[in-house]
Amino acid sequence: MVPKVVFGKGSYEQLAEIIKPQRKSKAPFVFIVDDVFKESNEVIDKIPLNFNDKILYVSADEEPKTKQIDEIVQNLKSEFNYTPSGIIGIGGGSILDVTKAVSIMLTNPGNARDYQGWDLVKKKAVYHVGIPTISGTGSEVSRTTVLTGPTKKLGINSDFTPFDQVILDPDLTIGVPKDQWFYTGMDCFIHCVESLNGTFLNAFSESYGEKAYDLCKEIFVENKISEEEKRGKLMMASWHGGMSIAYSQVGIAHAMSYGLSYVLGTKHGIGNCIVFNQLEKYYGEDVVLFKEMVERFDITIPKNVCGNLSEIQMNTMIDVALGLVPLWENALGKDWESIMTRDVLKALYLKM
Ligand code: NAD
Ligand code: ZN
Repeated sequence: MVPKVVFGKGSYEQLAEIIKPQRKSKAPFVFIVDDVFKESNEVIDKIPLNFNDKILYVSADEEPKTKQIDEIVQNLKSEFNYTPSGIIGIGGGSILDVTKAVSIMLTNPGNARDYQGWDLVKKKAVYHVGIPTISGTGSEVSRTTVLTGPTKKLGINSDFTPFDQVILDPDLTIGVPKDQWFYTGMDCFIHCVESLNGTFLNAFSESYGEKAYDLCKEIFVENKISEEEKRGKLMMASWHGGMSIAYSQVGIAHAMSYGLSYVLGTKHGIGNCIVFNQLEKYYGEDVVLFKEMVERFDITIPKNVCGNLSEIQMNTMIDVALGLVPLWENALGKDWESIMTRDVLKALYLKM
């Protein structure tokens, strides 16, 4: 779990004070910042640069890749003689995942792809701080960093992955475009649905999942609260949704969305929405509710995204999805293979 967290409007201003005790002489702080903020004084001016500290702008246009992590780590190792004092990520799930992965790979040998899986990391990561600027993925609280590698899209799941410190300032999410707000927010809603309806469910996951689910309903269904309240509540929903899956698993939407992402590069939030839209048979009323939310906020969900796939691409998509065994087992039980055959999966993909 994340051992330290501050929450509140304006809490971003405490960044300098929070990281100061972690500074080791000559070792810089590296700030990995979404390049969407390059021109934003609000975000950039408050970064407390000292000595040889560095800001590294990273684009979130594509989801993080293992190769990209290796390059960043290599560059930092060539530029600095000392392992950084800390890595601070400012951005959405993509940037937070880059931050977590870079901090792990600075202290562990080999390439990022060697650590995709469960509990393969042996050494403690560099001190790392997460500062989300869009809410929903739960990456700020999770013990994984999702990476696309040469053979699979899979997280580095380990006890060293979670942030040492998180700063939750809802004001940083001002300015997120509406559709993106919805897609990433729905990632949280889908985390809750998949956790609460999964066979791995337990009292720990349930308590967090129910809270996050109710917060999502307050924001996206009842829609009676102010924008400011929505920002705060969605940030907490994201946190609770992440906590819920920490002790259970996600399910069908995530497994299939990973397939879409691997073959077509579809991003996580929108990919989950494309898939979830067709899962009424598995997640019944929650899919009905989802469709109501789509309508209420006038959101476009892309259609016919798999219509032009070659047979090879379709097979790869199915392989990637079926490779995520724990997700299927959580969703459908031990017997999942007899329920989710390649044909069933293909038919579902063709509906999307
Ligand atoms: P993102 O980080 O990909 O960002 C989406 C878009 O929003 C980008 O264009 C970004 O520049 C923009 N953006 C972010 N903050 C903004 C702001 N304040 N104002 C304006 N624009 C802003 O989005 P995401 O949905 O948060 O993250 C998706 C990623 O998270 C995927 O790579 C996915 O694999 C990963 N993920 C990780 C976990 C985990 O537990 N580690 C869980 C779920 C998803
Ligand atoms: Zn997700």
